[in-house]
Amino acid sequence: MIARQSEGATETEICWHGGEPLLLPSDYIEGVMALEHEILGDAQLKRGEYRNSLQSNLYSVQKDKLQLLAREHIELGVSLDLVGGVRLTAAGQETEDQVARNIDLLTKLGIDFGAIVVLAGHTRRQVTEIYDFYEELGVEVRFLPLFDAPLNEAGASFAASYPEMLDALKTLFLHWIDRPRRTRVSPLHEYLETILLHMLGRSKHRYDRKANGEFVLLVNTDGSLYERIDAYDRTKMLGNVFDQSINEVISSPNYQASLQRDVALAERYCSSCEYLGACDTSPLFESPRRDIGEARCHVAYPLYRFIDEYVRERRYTPSDLQRILTFA
Ligand code: SF4
Repeated sequence: MIARQSEGATETEICWHGGEPLLLPSDYIEGVMALEHEILGDAQLKRGEYRNSLQSNLYSVQKDKLQLLAREHIELGVSLDLVGGVRLTAAGQETEDQVARNIDLLTKLGIDFGAIVVLAGHTRRQVTEIYDFYEELGVEVRFLPLFDAPLNEAGASFAASYPEMLDALKTLFLHWIDRPRRTRVSPLHEYLETILLHMLGRSKHRYDRKANGEFVLLVNTDGSLYERIDAYDRTKMLGNVFDQSINEVISSPNYQASLQRDVALAERYCSSCEYLGACDTSPLFESPRRDIGEARCHVAYPLYRFIDEYVRERRYTPSDLQRILTFA
């Protein structure tokens, strides 16, 4: 579950993750939604104070289930890398063609969706072709670098190093920025927004869990609770939701220690960074890293520099960037 606070209002997003949530029986999904309507309120769901999103590999779907998602305004994210050989069924068959057919079904039913592409060894050389596929459909796409996933190790078919993935994101940026009918692509869109703020000398609210509360917490199957950057590291566990209330967790020494680690990390990496202010420091905390980098975060920072140099060389003005970001 994700809770966001903006101008005093809290929006809560209930994320259906799996395994594969579309394998759940329709009556189970209907039952959960009935409970949400009863507990959270029809009006609150309608106003978007509570939203549902569901992440699917879209391999096995039934039309009635998709219609149920549409009826309940459950937002759909589709994981499709468009490169064969990595995502296989239990019988070892590639899933991409089947998923592409189901995307056609979504389009026919008028169901909006966003796409997630894992950026790793199998996709890094084809990022522009993958982007073009989603641009043609008019679908937003997020490239999710597999930086420190447990299986991203030398020898794995999808292994990729940090420099290889940064190069892939730079290639994608150069392709995307010149497209006449570009679609939103994350994280490049957000990085370009940061560069626009940097040009204008403006700041975002700083990422600050102590002041603003939590954005995402990870709960393991044994109830143990973690910040994203500390995922599943028992030495940095915040508490356990099976044994403690959230208020007990937040007032615990473990939680206070995690706030102090945030402050120390931001002080070490961000305090003298030229993008601090325009960058809210959140890239430092977004996922676990084996190695954060020498002096700056080693994902967002090199990409900010790359984009910054690119827009300066082209003599782009803030209005040019605004036009690019709003697809005008
Ligand atoms: S070091 Fe990274 S996270 Fe920190 S301000 Fe600079 S770009 Fe942002």
